[in-house]
Amino acid sequence: MEIFYTQADLQKRLEYLRLKKQSIALVPTMGALHKGHLSLLSYAKEKAVVIICSIFVNPTQFNDPSDLEKYPRPIAKDIKFLKDAECDILFLPSVTEMYPADEPEWHVDLGPLEQIWEGEHRPGHFQGVTQIVYKLFQLAQPDVVCFGQKDIQQIKVIEQLIEIKKLRVRLIICPTLRDSGGLALSSRNKHLSNTAKLNATKIYESLRYIKEHLRSTPVSQLKKEALKFMTSQEGFDVEYLAICDYETLQEVSVIIPDRKHVALVAVWLDDVRLIDNMFLD
Ligand code: AMP
Repeated sequence: MEIFYTQADLQKRLEYLRLKKQSIALVPTMGALHKGHLSLLSYAKEKAVVIICSIFVNPTQFNDPSDLEKYPRPIAKDIKFLKDAECDILFLPSVTEMYPADEPEWHVDLGPLEQIWEGEHRPGHFQGVTQIVYKLFQLAQPDVVCFGQKDIQQIKVIEQLIEIKKLRVRLIICPTLRDSGGLALSSRNKHLSNTAKLNATKIYESLRYIKEHLRSTPVSQLKKEALKFMTSQEGFDVEYLAICDYETLQEVSVIIPDRKHVALVAVWLDDVRLIDNMFLD
């Protein structure tokens, strides 16, 4: 696996690969890699010849400085992980490499998506996400990019970025990988105690409950029951739980036939913020 630390070095390498007509897939990550990231790499391998994984803990998408500070950065382990996964290229830039001192202001109009759910609870988060993803797109000019369904609102935001900037990249949505209890794998799970990890399985159980009862129970009752189930756990603080239209991520009060729906949830457990979602149709 080749490792590049600067945009210039990566660009030089990619120019050569493009001359050889090699297709390129990009998997952007913030590191602390787990099997969820690994599955993104497998999807990428199915779609392109050269796989680039980027690891960059992007400061502009953190609205909470202590969250940024305590974000895990086990870089030696990540490098081994990627080598074992037969990744071709790791892009591992520093903050100053991605954000030079003369960095221009960044803003894209994400419309209502920016005001709801993650947008509401993490102000500025999606501007930071689009800022770094656009930089990575400009640099790598990938044919394919793989993102996880786990961050479904992020996917909607990237779809919008691709449309606004008229980018020629194919976005692949990869399913969420879970542990045996159903907890979605996340770099943040490291901060959970064993009891919290066990309690966290209630997130998946609640989403499953909503999915299974969607056609037989009114939306408001389903939401109430799922909330009650989750909050009966010690230390469980639900930030939001919503049943939404899949296209707009706007909350619905009734299920609309012929439209797709998704349940979204964010909870705090042990001072750790966890998000999850499930397609309902
Ligand atoms: P992160 O490193 O957390 O920024 O995530 C990098 C990419 O991995 C994003 O596209 C995430 O949606 C995806 N991802 C994170 N957790 C999982 C998971 N459990 N299963 C599948 N993909 C995931």
